[in-house]
Amino acid sequence: MTLNIILKKIKTYNPDADFKLIEKAYYFAEKAHQGQKRKSGEDYIQHSLYTAYYLAEIKSSAVTIAAGLLHDVVEDTKITNKEIKKEFGREIAFLVEGVSNLGKIKYRGIEPKNGRLLGQIENLRKVFLAMAKDIRVILIKLCDRLHNLETLSSLPPEKQKRIAMESMEIYAPLSYRLGIGELTGRLEDAAFPYIYPKEYQKLLTQVEERYEKRKKYLEKIKPLIKKSLKKQGIKIIEIHSRSKHYYSLHKKLQHYDSDINKIYDLVALRIIVKNVKECYKTLGIIHKLWKPLFGRIKDYIAMPKPNGYQSLHTTVFCVDGKIIEFQIRTPEMHKEAELGIAAHWYYSEQKGIKNKVKKLINKSPENGKELRWVKQLQKWQQETKNISPDEYLKTLKIDFFEDRIFIFTPKGDVIDLPEDATSIDFAYAVHSEIGDHCDSAKVNQKMTSLSKPLKNGDLVEIITKKNKTPSRDWIKIAKTNMARSRIRSYLNKESKEKWPKRIIKTTWKRK
Ligand code: MN
Repeated sequence: MTLNIILKKIKTYNPDADFKLIEKAYYFAEKAHQGQKRKSGEDYIQHSLYTAYYLAEIKSSAVTIAAGLLHDVVEDTKITNKEIKKEFGREIAFLVEGVSNLGKIKYRGIEPKNGRLLGQIENLRKVFLAMAKDIRVILIKLCDRLHNLETLSSLPPEKQKRIAMESMEIYAPLSYRLGIGELTGRLEDAAFPYIYPKEYQKLLTQVEERYEKRKKYLEKIKPLIKKSLKKQGIKIIEIHSRSKHYYSLHKKLQHYDSDINKIYDLVALRIIVKNVKECYKTLGIIHKLWKPLFGRIKDYIAMPKPNGYQSLHTTVFCVDGKIIEFQIRTPEMHKEAELGIAAHWYYSEQKGIKNKVKKLINKSPENGKELRWVKQLQKWQQETKNISPDEYLKTLKIDFFEDRIFIFTPKGDVIDLPEDATSIDFAYAVHSEIGDHCDSAKVNQKMTSLSKPLKNGDLVEIITKKNKTPSRDWIKIAKTNMARSRIRSYLNKESKEKWPKRIIKTTWKRK
């Protein structure tokens, strides 16, 4: 990957982008990573470049791409966030810091489909969103992860499995909910062979030939469709075939007795026309040409999928009786399906975020198609948290956990605490025994006073001593009721036990 390829890509969707900024970020990152190699033997900067390229593929802004180039600089080189701030300003420094923070969230050994732990996975997804604070941080992290997955073969098997699993359980679902269809499919497909190697191999042998044959067949269909639509005065903006992603096919096969002949959308023909009216008209023309299969007409325009996806789908007996799926949509629907939330961010940065926020607030939710993703996130959050929709719409930042902070244990588990909580609260939240005997705390590997408020994303290690016990001051230091009540009950118990001794001591002192 080279800088030029990225710049070229950006030019295709944003010719006025700040190319100077991207170049500057590139040279800065290249210098910082100089001499560093990836496990694959490649120069480290390749990873930064791929991350930036994937960001350009989802049409990210120059600021986001610059931050993508710099995303590992603070984490992996001597450069500090302060220097990034000085060189590139607050916004980029904030994005880079956000990406580093997300790197601290680790998914450890949770087996999939284990009902008991599913809630935990869901929590981890939420922590991820809450910590990101900005959608652009998530976009960078998703692109970073995609390249890591693509170079996973150079890592030891255990790590491969963990990273693949984490991607499948945390990253891909997030990408899906943000509506970034293309990225979701690629993340899943890259993780798939590491999680289900046998199934992957099997699928590959079944599918490869079929994909090719179908594609060739569809090439023959294209001119027929074009002609028929033209006759009816419908202009095709774009027509292309899309192959189903492997993992998505794998999931679908499980509902169809693993019979690949029952899957009709292995390769589908996608037609993009001007507006909704023409979408329905196109559907009618296709049905007039070829007989539709019963029960396979899906109107996702009138009834969008939960993640906001819109299109008309139909499956027909096509030329030579072959069963083919058509997907019909407008350019807006297409952009939304491919880019999801990323599309909105691209525009918001162009026009200025503040204006966009104002516009969104003023728009009524019913006709605000672009609000779909906001509503989606909102709905998702409301499943567990009671925030009023209005309140949420007032900010486009991810701040539904504003008054909570997320602290990491040395093992990467996440403890959720109120703002201003201290290491004492953390210790009690981990385990009451650890609280009762906590002696000191290391915050981000540095010895820190137990009374210092913790910050979102801190990694805290509690050092315990057997003979250490709670003192009165701790009640003031602790912010959570849980820790306070535990300290009180310990002190009460202790004072009861030591009551006689204390009397003697006090009496003696008074003398
Ligand atoms: Mn990275």
